[in-house]
Amino acid sequence: MADIIDGKLISSLERERISAECTKLIKEGVTPGLAVIIVGEDPASKVYVRNKHKACEAAGFKSVVIELPFETSEEELIAKVGELASDDTVDGILVQLPLPDHIDENRVIEAIPASKDVDAFNLENVGRIMTGDALFLPCTPAGIMKMLEHKNIDVAGKDCVVVGRSNIVGKPMALLLLAANGTVTVCHSKTKNLADVTRRADILVAAVGKPRFITADMVKEGAVVIDVGINRGEDGKLCGDVDFDAVSNVASAITPVPGGVGPMTITMLLDNTLRAAKRRASIK
Ligand code: NDP
Repeated sequence: MADIIDGKLISSLERERISAECTKLIKEGVTPGLAVIIVGEDPASKVYVRNKHKACEAAGFKSVVIELPFETSEEELIAKVGELASDDTVDGILVQLPLPDHIDENRVIEAIPASKDVDAFNLENVGRIMTGDALFLPCTPAGIMKMLEHKNIDVAGKDCVVVGRSNIVGKPMALLLLAANGTVTVCHSKTKNLADVTRRADILVAAVGKPRFITADMVKEGAVVIDVGINRGEDGKLCGDVDFDAVSNVASAITPVPGGVGPMTITMLLDNTLRAAKRRASIK
């Protein structure tokens, strides 16, 4: 039976550290501040924003949530981002995605200065991740690297297979594993003989968005399996991209869903905001 990589536990340890560092910064006169903008009434987005707000407050950060109506124009939204960009008490700016169709997400993301882009989505930050000179690491892949670090799983020299190539998860995940000296293969919907590739993995990351897509026969005995997926199974319950029950008999370590990668994502958002606040403290 595989070792369960407990994202909740690792997340709470990391949040304790972040909170302690926040207290220290506040004594120096700098309160880390995160501003989150949400446009419209998407229920899932509202839950995500509320969770980010709660996490900020629990860590001692200043948290600003700006709720804008669905009809907000691209120009109005970009103007709001501009206000926050010049607000010295705001270290991180996050625009909750998806945005309504009449707004060009890329234009909005590019309006966030790289130094406050704590999601690490804008082109400067993406380029910096590519060259190994990141201001911030993208939250979900960074959370996964943090979990591996906590479990003393060394990536160097390992065969790492990432299934999924999205800009948010798959591609940056591959870059972080590469930066940690893994030998990285990225798979996607056009990959041939997928199971042959995944079976080579010492570290397998599934970011596909399909319930229980990775089955036990696709996993090498003793592999470390990281499940990024958040799906609803046919039974209506939350499940990952990995067939957890079967794969945990083959893997040496595995992340559950829920309670695995999910909790780490907001934790790394806090970590990025703290990083930005530290930079502000040092240039005060
Ligand atoms: P996307 O839909 O953007 O990307 C899915 C990827 O899976 C694509 O690259 C796609 O390939 C690939 N894919 C689809 N079908 C197959 C297949 N049959 N074989 C191989 N590859 C396939 O999803 P995201 O990356 O945004 O998210 C993935 C999952 O992770 C979702 O369940 C999402 O909810 C979850 N997620 C969880 C987070 C967390 O905090 N835990 C954060 C972000 C996402 P192609 O490019 O060829 O289409």
